[in-house]
Amino acid sequence: MDRKHSQHLYNEACEHIVGGVNSPSRSFKGVGGGVPVFMEKGNGAYLYDVDGSTYIDYLGAYGPIITGHAHPHITQVVTRAAENGVLYGTPTVLENRFAKMLKEAIPSLEKVRFVNSGTEAVMTTIRVARAYTGRTKIVKFSGSYHGHSDLVLVAAGSGPATLGSPDSAGVTENTAEEVITVPFNDTQALQDVLDKWGDDIAAVLVEPIVGNFGIVEPAEGFLEQVNEAAHDTGALVIYDEVITAFRFTYGGAQDIYGVKPDMTAMGKIIGGGLPIGAYGGRVDIMENVAPLGPAYQAGTMSGNPVSISAGIACLEVLGQDGVYEHLDHLGKRLEDGLSHIIKEHSIPAVINRRCGALTLFFTDRKVTDYDGADESDGELFKTFFHLMLDQGINLAPSKYEAWFLTTAHTEADIDQTIEAARHAFSQIEKN
Ligand code: PMP
Repeated sequence: MDRKHSQHLYNEACEHIVGGVNSPSRSFKGVGGGVPVFMEKGNGAYLYDVDGSTYIDYLGAYGPIITGHAHPHITQVVTRAAENGVLYGTPTVLENRFAKMLKEAIPSLEKVRFVNSGTEAVMTTIRVARAYTGRTKIVKFSGSYHGHSDLVLVAAGSGPATLGSPDSAGVTENTAEEVITVPFNDTQALQDVLDKWGDDIAAVLVEPIVGNFGIVEPAEGFLEQVNEAAHDTGALVIYDEVITAFRFTYGGAQDIYGVKPDMTAMGKIIGGGLPIGAYGGRVDIMENVAPLGPAYQAGTMSGNPVSISAGIACLEVLGQDGVYEHLDHLGKRLEDGLSHIIKEHSIPAVINRRCGALTLFFTDRKVTDYDGADESDGELFKTFFHLMLDQGINLAPSKYEAWFLTTAHTEADIDQTIEAARHAFSQIEKN
């Protein structure tokens, strides 16, 4: 595949933009280097690059794109919203409508607040939890990524782990000391930490289904135990549903498992592809937020009519009958096809899938936590990634990420992807 124009643009980007990219996970550092593909158009399940090649897209912009690129309903609603002015700095009826939609879909959200990114949403839930409890420490699970605010860049997952720098420079040791990290799915480790520091812990922060070291589901009873153990010590439970909200069902992952957190952070899908974040939860906790309470959080762009309109339009599409069944059907077809290929070859690989999201790990062990994901073979992934890209299959350039399906993918797209994977596995086996 010719990438002359991408190469040229990347060279230019490197002169002007740090590392040539505006988010490190877009660089190809995690897959042995190379030129990130410059895309110029998206439509449905496809992305089109500047050199004239077409790709079946499984990156989904790292999660937000669940209805396919340039979905006609979202595009029309966003265009109309932009024509009415993109930002007023006043409340709008759209915000009321969207807040009600989110509350109906995710009942633990007794009150919400809109922000502009998942990072902001998570960062604020932590501040509010500290304000509410009067405690300072938080517990998170190793390998989980919760945005790039200081407190959660401790043992963070996908981006930093791929780059081999789990802790960011610039995050002070004092900050890091406020964060305790335990392995996902390890209730004993969590209990030990809560026994030791319980009185200091403001919140336990958890992705109810992990998306950031690949798709990893909670073991049976794990989320219930997190709730019980945290609440026993007076700590709050915060769900980071930035990836998971509306990814697997019309609602949060919490609605799948029927376990309620005290607060939830969201982003990605709820903006239909535009910048957004939101957090919410129990009313007695949320009323600590300014202007009602002492925990300050604000935003010039927060609740802007374009992002909110896109979010409403996206949820309207996702609320239609059969959407998640369709995603699950496509996901299963892809999983079955890939599993078949794994059986035909002698390359160690396992698949974790939930609905229309999956991760192919190059390991022969079941992956249930970060160490398992980390032990998967990065070299094999690199080769696989480039072989797939060269056949027009756009995956995330990291072994820790998920493949995201959209409602726009077809069975034919899936079958073409499976054939590409078969070719990639054969090539790998030959060499
Ligand atoms: N939490 C989770 C679980 C995420 O996956 C991400 C982004 N990948 C974030 C928080 C941060 O969101 P954003 O990039 O919108 O700031």
